[in-house]
Amino acid sequence: MTENVIAENIAAIKKDIPENVTLVGVTKHRSVEETQAVVDAGVYDLGENKVQEFLAKVDEVKGPVRWHFIGHLQRNKVKYLMGKVSLIHSVHSVPLLKTIEKESAKHGVKTNVLIQFNLAKEDSKSGFMAEEYEMVMKEVGNCPHLEVQGLMCIGPMTKKSDEIHKVFKHLKELYDTIEKEYHGENIKMQYLSMGMTDDYPIAIEEGATIVRIGRKIFNR
Ligand SMILES: *Cc1c(COP(=O)(O)O)cnc(C)c1O
Repeated sequence: MTENVIAENIAAIKKDIPENVTLVGVTKHRSVEETQAVVDAGVYDLGENKVQEFLAKVDEVKGPVRWHFIGHLQRNKVKYLMGKVSLIHSVHSVPLLKTIEKESAKHGVKTNVLIQFNLAKEDSKSGFMAEEYEMVMKEVGNCPHLEVQGLMCIGPMTKKSDEIHKVFKHLKELYDTIEKEYHGENIKMQYLSMGMTDDYPIAIEEGATIVRIGRKIFNR
């Protein structure tokens, strides 16, 4: 029953999304069985936001899953993700950047990351301010075990679509600027991760290449 609902919801979402946009199914707070149903419906990119929960699931869910870490990441938990995640979306501070670099070197892996920006300027959200991008990208230059593959943001908490457009447009502009000014050895811009259940159509209009969708997959 649940499996059917999940598969139907995913089919509906996929109709909305162009080929070149990756759907990350956000399975946080969902059981192994629900998570497995998402994989069985053909979504192999899964997003988790708690290290503990991710570790409990990673060996239980079967299939060619690419795990995305999308939540607030504490520095003391970084080591548990090494070699296990395809992409960390939520690099929100320089100390976190440095910890991921250090742990990646220690584990002999290269870690793919996105830089998270807080363009809605809401205190409840983490991420860099737009003005900090040069400083951040300079730091990335000292992190050979990281590969920056793009940017991520969470849309503003509003129903006003013009405000949502503004934030996503801004992230796309930052993305283009960084791609132009910094593309190099460990900076290979390819992903613009923005858009969730309530705002993903707007995010796609503004150039998202990854959308992160949770509720719409599981809602009845
Ligand atoms: C929970 C979460 C999502 C999914 O949100 P929905 O509204 O359930 O689609 C996407 N991104 C992040 C960072 C999240 O924490």
